[in-house]
Amino acid sequence: MNDLIDARKIVLACQGLSKIYRQGTGEAGEVRVLIGVEMEIVAGERVAVVGASGSGKSTLLHLLGGLDSASAGKIQLMGHDLSEISDAERGVMRNRHLGFVYQFHHLLPEFTALENVAMPLYIRRMPKAEAEERAAAVLADVGLSHRLDHRPSELSGGERQRAAIARALVTEPACVLADEPTGNLDRQTAEGVFELMLALNRSRQTSFVIVTHDPALAGRADRILTLRDGSFLGQGN
Ligand code: ADP
Ligand code: MG
Repeated sequence: MNDLIDARKIVLACQGLSKIYRQGTGEAGEVRVLIGVEMEIVAGERVAVVGASGSGKSTLLHLLGGLDSASAGKIQLMGHDLSEISDAERGVMRNRHLGFVYQFHHLLPEFTALENVAMPLYIRRMPKAEAEERAAAVLADVGLSHRLDHRPSELSGGERQRAAIARALVTEPACVLADEPTGNLDRQTAEGVFELMLALNRSRQTSFVIVTHDPALAGRADRILTLRDGSFLGQGN
């Protein structure tokens, strides 16, 4: 059991969240991906989101992360309703409180691991030395102290994902949204990366929402939410 969970502190939540993609005109062209999704992530929680390919896992993460807009419903990040603030404020909220990890690492090829992880801090105009000191500390947390000066092409698949996790954590977000972060890795490496994310929450009390299609990995999170037919099992449908 995860004794770091603080059930009183809701980090990220949504109510009645729906997404309909429209192609062409009329109902025939509607793809109803999410229908009234309800979710609450509290501080320190590690939640796995599972579901078949095409069930809407990425769509949900994009909505929660403010990367796409919902057709209906509300999202709160750190108590702020994202639909009630300006685009600029939403951007600030997202940068301050969320971290993202994708299936493909999206590290910048011409920069070292240290520079890639320091990048979000450079963007915040943190002095270079301080940014790199922090980046090195997070890279140590993910077991990459010996790879600071390697470019992404000089890292293994698992090391790249660990660097991407370090980049997501360097800003000390309240919650990390990870979309199939192990989907591109072999079984053993995937397990290592997944375990790392679960472990990192203990030292940092960062909440993790990890999308996976692998029930065996998901079984290690504090909680599993299963997307099917547009909402989480046990919530309607
Ligand atoms: P998952 O991540 O669970 O595999 P996605 O969220 O990527 O699923 O996609 C859910 C469904 O929405 C799929 O049927 C997909 O084809 C559809 N979809 C995703 N993006 C779009 C889009 N931009 N336009 C139309 N349909 C989309
Ligand atoms: Mg997906």
